[in-house]
Amino acid sequence: MSEQTCIIIGASHAAAQLAPSLRQQGWEGRIIVIGDEAYIPYHRPPLSKTFLSGEKEVDGILIRPAAIYQKNAIEFKLGSRVELIDRAHKTITLKSGEVLNYDKLALCTGSRVRKVTLPGVELEGIHYLRDIGDVEGIKQHVAAGKQAVIVGGGYIGLETAAVLNKLGMKVTVLEMAPRVLARVTAPELSEFYTRVHTEEGVVIKTGIAVSGLKGDGHVQQVHCADGSSFDADLVVIGVGVIPNVELAEACGLNVDNGIVVDQFARTNDPDIVAAGDVSNHPNQHYNRRLRLESVPNASEQAKSAAASICGKDVEYNALPWFWSDQYDLKLQIAGLSQGYDEVVIRGDIKSSRKFSAFYLLEGKLISADCVNSPLEFMVSKRLITEKISVNAAQLADINISPKEFLN
Ligand code: FAD
Repeated sequence: MSEQTCIIIGASHAAAQLAPSLRQQGWEGRIIVIGDEAYIPYHRPPLSKTFLSGEKEVDGILIRPAAIYQKNAIEFKLGSRVELIDRAHKTITLKSGEVLNYDKLALCTGSRVRKVTLPGVELEGIHYLRDIGDVEGIKQHVAAGKQAVIVGGGYIGLETAAVLNKLGMKVTVLEMAPRVLARVTAPELSEFYTRVHTEEGVVIKTGIAVSGLKGDGHVQQVHCADGSSFDADLVVIGVGVIPNVELAEACGLNVDNGIVVDQFARTNDPDIVAAGDVSNHPNQHYNRRLRLESVPNASEQAKSAAASICGKDVEYNALPWFWSDQYDLKLQIAGLSQGYDEVVIRGDIKSSRKFSAFYLLEGKLISADCVNSPLEFMVSKRLITEKISVNAAQLADINISPKEFLN
């Protein structure tokens, strides 16, 4: 076994792929994964879906069984926080004071929730949603017939609303923007999700800013700037995330809305790579740099990072894709819709729960939101990746099979 050591900071989606990929790429030295949570890497998406609903327990959401890491001689230091990187001496320092040497370092520090500074935010019953501990905290306040207020109408807020509604809570979503999902999707989709949530019994209020939370030890009410207020036994705040770049910044790596890396996940230090939510990387499909918050991004980029550590060039240039599960809706998103000049709807978005929204720019597909339409999603990925021109009228015609768009 080689004497070299690769340290991976962060033990989540990117790390869970990077560590075994290192072995596949021929890394023979030590691999140490350091994570500040208590668990080996687990899937984060179920936290606002099947883990919150109770359909899955911790064992059911692990990314890989512990045996796989053991088989690959991947060591974990869990519940440990890295506080400092010393690039000159190639060491990292843990919160405990322990100092470890590295030959190669991978930064998979991901992102953390954006916190709000509202009066009363420290009251009991107010939670964010990022890790298992958060969900365990939320679950203590879940009870049929009680009131839940969700602050933020993004995907995580809406998924949480759907689950809490299913668990029998009376749910209200408060969104500051004029519509839900405003940052990521077209007005047609926002309208669709508002309709479905309303049909399911969730109250959605938009254009409303929370101004404070009140209660006697435990939250009782959410107050808004327009003077309105909402009773609450549980408040879940989902207003976005920020990348964990502080370690990288402090040791002089290039940081600009994420740790700046090239298409091989390399930072400006030849011995340090970064992958996942924390990275700002180039993407040729959109001809710009991106910082993405998605599992496929973390896993795929980690493969390039592992190759780079082993001295190989494996370019990361995947088409971004995402998903969201709410009620019986399986949304699959291919690509990024920002900058579109036309939206084409295929299917009945007004009254059904199965349709696709295609986003075009100058006649080329750049993104697609596909609800319960897996074939449209698969075809869209290819149309975008291969830059195939499509005719808007054909896209909208449900009598034409999506496969024909590829011809
Ligand atoms: P993270 O998962 O953020 O993990 C980074 C880890 O590093 C964390 O455990 C952090 O605590 C740790 N860490 C940070 N700094 C240090 C340090 N100094 N020392 C030690 N440890 C450190 N994506 C999808 O694609 N589809 C979905 O449906 C979806 N749903 C989601 C639902 C929820 C509720 C959440 C929270 C996220 C969801 N995501 C979804 C996003 C997805 O989970 C993230 O994109 C993914 O987790 C990113 O993985 P990562 O490894 O880059 O970072």
